[in-house]
Amino acid sequence: MKPRQFLQSKIAGLKARLSRLSRIDNAFVGLRPQDMRYAPSREHFSVSNARLAKTEREIRRRFEHLETTAMSAPLQRVLVDIALVERELDRARRLFGMFYEVFAQRGTSFGPSLAAHDAIAGDCYQAIRQAAPRVFSGALLKPVCYMEHGYSPATMRRGIQMNRLLGEANPFPLIRIPWDRDQPWQSVFLHEVAHNLQADLGIWQENRQAVVRRMLQSTRDPFITSVYGRWHKEIFADLAAILLGGPAAAWGMADFLAQPVPRTMTYRPGGAHPTAYLRVQMLAEMLRRLGFVRDGEQLARTWRTLYQSPRGHRMPLQLISSAARAIPAVVDEIAFQTRRNLAHRALVDIIPFGNDDQKAIREGADALISRRYRQAIHLPPRFLVSAAAYALASRRVAPQRLATQVINLLNQQSDHVRAGPASPTQLRLVA
Ligand SMILES: [Zn+2]
Repeated sequence: MKPRQFLQSKIAGLKARLSRLSRIDNAFVGLRPQDMRYAPSREHFSVSNARLAKTEREIRRRFEHLETTAMSAPLQRVLVDIALVERELDRARRLFGMFYEVFAQRGTSFGPSLAAHDAIAGDCYQAIRQAAPRVFSGALLKPVCYMEHGYSPATMRRGIQMNRLLGEANPFPLIRIPWDRDQPWQSVFLHEVAHNLQADLGIWQENRQAVVRRMLQSTRDPFITSVYGRWHKEIFADLAAILLGGPAAAWGMADFLAQPVPRTMTYRPGGAHPTAYLRVQMLAEMLRRLGFVRDGEQLARTWRTLYQSPRGHRMPLQLISSAARAIPAVVDEIAFQTRRNLAHRALVDIIPFGNDDQKAIREGADALISRRYRQAIHLPPRFLVSAAAYALASRRVAPQRLATQVINLLNQQSDHVRAGPASPTQLRLVA
């Protein structure tokens, strides 16, 4: 085969894959009518479809150019043009694959718990909309949860460029739940939602700058300042999670962070997460500041007993010696100081949490323990997470039964909210 002929046949192969892609266009993600109550909203589908359609147009445009010039352009140019079509195809495939995976999981046995987690995440946004109307810029697509491998939950914020999408921005927040952590009492899930809240509230930068300024002022130590500056978003998510779920959220995160001494007490240079030894002290400080003094003291004491600093730590001494000053300052700065982007309100003002909320959570826990589920259904979804955590800790309910019941409650609640199931035609993913 001559070079030009050889390239022509390569292009023909490429064209066959384009049409292959167009056949996938009309594939359904495989959800049955009974799965629809667990599916993301119509808007999630249509935004995904629009994104896929845009990539498809780009593929066609590049392919048409390739087809019209392939006989006359220099051979090297043709090779590059083929590669450019391939690149767009790859982008479409990754996008399609991601949407397919995320949406199709709603048709599996994980569907109910994923929908329940969507409801919890949506409620966290709702809490802010109630306390601070119009603080978000307009309507936002809610986060969508999906299952994947991985030790801890993770999140991909709205609009960030994703490596797996070749730099495409994701159109709505995604929250990854590890396969074995889909029970509705994981307060680390509230932490993940909080990362999205911080991004959608537009206070990412402002929070970092404020932390850096405050730490420099209170410690006068550039090293400590840079460390807390780097940790700002994780501390924000921890403190916001406490405001979303109360003391139970602090205990739940401590549960997650309680590892053997070498892990909990080793400082990781460049790491985004605070060393767990200090991180839980921040949670305890937040509880005290919110007026949950007993919980705060108990958490701090338990942590001190498990992790005694003179023994076996691998942390810069400055970090330990500055903690008594740095921790109250950073908690005050992130949760209690006002932000311009929050219209001069603080985090505690836009996610208020008080004694009445804690009382409602405790009552909800009692209702779950004594199987009075009707009573618990009125609890906001984010509070149900904490009520379920207390019910689990009571050890008076079988965990799997508890998980199933709480997931049912969360899905019953969202059935009321849902405008009605999306029609099957909305399920088409157009590539
Ligand atoms: Zn985090």
